[in-house]
Amino acid sequence: MLAAMEFTQISGKQVSRIGLGTWAIGGLDWGAVSDSDAVATLLSAVDRGINLIDTAPIYGRGRAEELLGKAIRAHGHREAFYIATKAGLDWNTGREGVFADSTAPRLRQELEHSLRRLNTDFIDLYQVHWPDTLVPIEETAALLAEFVREGKVGALGVSNYSVAQMQAFRSVAPLASNQPPYNLFERQIDHETLPWCAANHVAVLTYSSLCRSLLAGRLTHGMTFPAGDIRAVDPKFQQPRFTQYLNAVERLAAFAQAHFGKTVLSLAARWVLDRPGISVALWGAKRPDQLDAVAGVLGWKLSDSAMAEIDQIVAECVTDPVGPEYLTPKVRE
Ligand code: NAP
Repeated sequence: MLAAMEFTQISGKQVSRIGLGTWAIGGLDWGAVSDSDAVATLLSAVDRGINLIDTAPIYGRGRAEELLGKAIRAHGHREAFYIATKAGLDWNTGREGVFADSTAPRLRQELEHSLRRLNTDFIDLYQVHWPDTLVPIEETAALLAEFVREGKVGALGVSNYSVAQMQAFRSVAPLASNQPPYNLFERQIDHETLPWCAANHVAVLTYSSLCRSLLAGRLTHGMTFPAGDIRAVDPKFQQPRFTQYLNAVERLAAFAQAHFGKTVLSLAARWVLDRPGISVALWGAKRPDQLDAVAGVLGWKLSDSAMAEIDQIVAECVTDPVGPEYLTPKVRE
């Protein structure tokens, strides 16, 4: 019998502890994805008990949100989806790159565009994608609170915010969630962010739970990524680090098999879910078969001693660790 999906609550709404991430479904940064594969993946996620779908305007420059809207139409029940989208990144500046932009006109316009693309009149969770250091956080929070009062948004979240930035936000509006990077190899939030979120009842949705596919178990030594694939510019996927990380993955895979009869992907996702203070692990997929692995994550737990062995493997193999800072958007002039 299949183990049941785990659930938690965000602002009183029940959400699955595994959330589907749609960055890859956007089709621009992880290789091409057809409309039919994308919609099938979204519907397959719901079939498997996943209701939280994380998306953003930047994913495929609007395409991921449009495909989610299409999947919701095909499914027929809007309430089967907990839509978590974002705002505050601008890629249309005529200059190279992506810029943090939480100015009021931009956020107001993004909300209307997202509602249209998603084909809905209500977004369950609206998250600021990255902090904009040129706009006071309090102003952003006040504007987002207006969106809630207008009935267009259910709850407010942030992503990539520091504790100080979350405190500023919360001084003006209720903060339901934070979305930081977190996985076996990227644990920068352990010391400050996670304890603060737990103490302040802010849900934590982790992104890159599979470390942008490194921990999914498919990658091999010598593998390269074409220009345009995000992994072609990710420092973890460049030598000499790539070998270090793949060696760790190989040892973690052997550990997962020997102790639990599980794959390294199951181990990595379970690790995130079993860390204290984690609400939801976001996991990117672009084909329904990639979600077959969801079943292997459910119905078991990692003990403290297994966590310690995992830490030791990572420390022994990854001698020159690097974080996900390369994802940080540019600051406007
Ligand atoms: P991730 O979940 O760590 O890894 C996703 C990749 O793992 C997939 O694209 C796929 O790569 C591979 N994969 C998935 N299932 C697999 C399977 N069963 N077997 C083999 N490979 C598998 O990466 P992520 O997309 O960075 O993070 C998840 C979500 O978090 C995103 O989609 C997005 O919603 C969110 N996110 C948010 C931010 C933010 O700033 N807030 C930043 C990054 C991500 P292949 O292409 O190799 O198939």
